[in-house]
Amino acid sequence: MTDARHYDVIIIGGGPAGLAAGVYAARGRYKTVLLEKGVIGGQIALTEIVENYPGIKSINGFDLSQEMLQQAASYGMETEYVEVTGIERTGDLWTVHTSDVDFIAKAVINTAGADYNRLGVPGEERLTGKGVSYCATCDAAFFKDQAVIVVGGGDAAIEEGLFTTRYISKATVVHRRDELRASAILQERAFANDKMEFKWNTVVTEVLGDDLVTGVKLKDTVTGVESEMETSAVFIFIGQHPNTDFLGDLLPLDPGKHVIVDEWMRPHGPDGEPIPGFFAAGDIRQNSARQVASSVGDGVTAVIAADHYISANFTDVIGLDAEPAESTAG
Ligand code: NAP
Repeated sequence: MTDARHYDVIIIGGGPAGLAAGVYAARGRYKTVLLEKGVIGGQIALTEIVENYPGIKSINGFDLSQEMLQQAASYGMETEYVEVTGIERTGDLWTVHTSDVDFIAKAVINTAGADYNRLGVPGEERLTGKGVSYCATCDAAFFKDQAVIVVGGGDAAIEEGLFTTRYISKATVVHRRDELRASAILQERAFANDKMEFKWNTVVTEVLGDDLVTGVKLKDTVTGVESEMETSAVFIFIGQHPNTDFLGDLLPLDPGKHVIVDEWMRPHGPDGEPIPGFFAAGDIRQNSARQVASSVGDGVTAVIAADHYISANFTDVIGLDAEPAESTAG
């Protein structure tokens, strides 16, 4: 069996929170590895254009994540494409088990993120970023004065649906039942908004369009009658699932399986004390604002907390041997 690899900091997940943590950890001279099971960037890698990241007027989501990766790598952060299968505390250190070797470190920053629930209908995946979106705050501005549909009846659907009305001409909420799950105050605002319409007892069965979304196929859940509706965009909010399965019962999770953390991104154990050397940031945590900018902030907060923790508890920091390479970013 291959020997475990030793680091000061392990970051799990290569979305904006993890990449921001990587920039700070590696620039802070910690020997740092980022473990990613799929594509660097996470949800942002699937986003066509990001226009709300301060300082960058407009950038493709994949390109933004590559810039962040290069910046972290220029300071010495390593990246390994492996799947994390479990985590355990071994003495004063953490062991992260993966599909390949074990990784051992003084601190772990878990930024494994969350995935939006998909409808799973034809056209949805193909047209993601081309009219299918899981973030109105990010994408509604692209559909100025156009008609869009919003799928779902929870807080996210109604809150994000209300956000779309700042730009769009009409938002039709398509909901599978005849009443909303969203909180009363959001319902009141939605029903009072002239631009919001509701299609009850209805599900989307297909997203239509060649290069861009042009419409949807709908089905009435009571009568079974099928219909088509023109739309420029389909905003889907049918819940999300944080990637916390590999944590087992290690950390306190909320009913939606998000990690519960304090303001320093620290989960607390049953004794009420922070779990030493473990941090969770970005969409994996409870009450994330689910934005690139806020996830970056979370990642930075977590790594500063990790720095305090390592400085207070270890004298044998491995650190980075080489001088930081010249940054290739921006
Ligand atoms: P949610 O509360 O679970 O709502 C999901 C909605 O999607 C429900 O209306 C559900 O319908 C519908 N749905 C689920 N699967 C579907 C499918 N396959 N096809 C069609 N519709 C489907 O999720 P959420 O809105 O993302 O909220 C998650 C949590 O975050 C909640 O606790 C929420 O309160 C919180 N949150 C709060 C705020 C806020 O307070 N401002 C904002 C956003 C989120 P049914 O109703 O029929 O089950």
